[in-house]
Amino acid sequence: MHRRVRPLERAFLARPTMRAAVITDRDEVSIQERERPTAGPDEAVVRVGACGVCMTDYHLYRGTFPAEYPLVPGHESAGEVVSVGEAVTGVEAGDRVAIYPGRPCGDCRFCDRGRQNLCADLVAIGGAGDEILDGAFAEYVRVPAGSLEPIGDLSYETATFAEPLGCCIRGVDQADIETGDTVVIVGAGPIGLLLLQAFRASGAGTVVVSEPVERRRETAAELGADHVVDPTATPLSERLTELVDRVDVGVEAVGLPDTIETTHSVTSAGGTTLVFGVPPQGETIEIDPFDVYYQELELVGTFALTPNTFSRAVTFLQGDRVEVEPLITDTFDLSGLRTAFDQMADNEGLKKVVYPGR
Ligand SMILES: [Zn+2]
Ligand SMILES: [Zn+2]
Repeated sequence: MHRRVRPLERAFLARPTMRAAVITDRDEVSIQERERPTAGPDEAVVRVGACGVCMTDYHLYRGTFPAEYPLVPGHESAGEVVSVGEAVTGVEAGDRVAIYPGRPCGDCRFCDRGRQNLCADLVAIGGAGDEILDGAFAEYVRVPAGSLEPIGDLSYETATFAEPLGCCIRGVDQADIETGDTVVIVGAGPIGLLLLQAFRASGAGTVVVSEPVERRRETAAELGADHVVDPTATPLSERLTELVDRVDVGVEAVGLPDTIETTHSVTSAGGTTLVFGVPPQGETIEIDPFDVYYQELELVGTFALTPNTFSRAVTFLQGDRVEVEPLITDTFDLSGLRTAFDQMADNEGLKKVVYPGR
């Protein structure tokens, strides 16, 4: 059967290699000319339009998240499908898609219950997992066709937020909020600012954001925080007593034992503390078990995202429930990834987005 070959597909077929940002060792990232991936029977190859830089990429680069090198990071991506394997249906060359950065096994007890983020055989594409496949800081990436979510006319840049937002929606689900709940978010980096918007769109009443960096507090206020507080000026618990009568959900979006303790300590009786930030492994925090018992306090974790929350994130982005433009402070081509990592080390700016085709 004759099939029309699209211009992009033709360009793809004509050149056998591509550029990719490769982490070759701890603190070493370089641009390499690599063989272009080809799609297996159930796979697709996507030309990457844009890919967000995440703290996980940074941890893979610094060696603080265990991984085998060489490896191509990048798991917050969107682009155009250029080829699909022979068994693939429902996706074709030319489709604009966001990429769910995982390959759940589909038949472990977690996958069975819609908790693919805990899959017993956790394979990640450019992100954190037991096995890590090459990710999207490259001109092309190979993915399971089932991991693609159509994005319609959403820009690739906006669609890169489907992954981090999908993690935030997972967090909102885990916190199990009720309409009108008072939420305190500790940390207003890109994730804290997405959590703020996800909680608001999901029915939170008053939202307080605690963040030491002034610029980030301003952005939080612009994005709908009812109160922004500087925890270095006045202790958070003191400020909260002045501002709200209770805290139903305390969200830690920093990833430090100290801030988790603080967040848990301000959560009111019957409330939930959500551990969202990635804490260092092997650390401990102090919890008074009597309070957990007597006040029915919950300490809840949330890890990554599921295909379900990913798809809901795309819906949120398409419906303008979440603003992402104020979060993007820096954009780069592939060779700028190292600069992006350097900025992250210094807490400079907010979200960084890489355009591998530039
Ligand atoms: Zn991420
Ligand atoms: Zn599984």
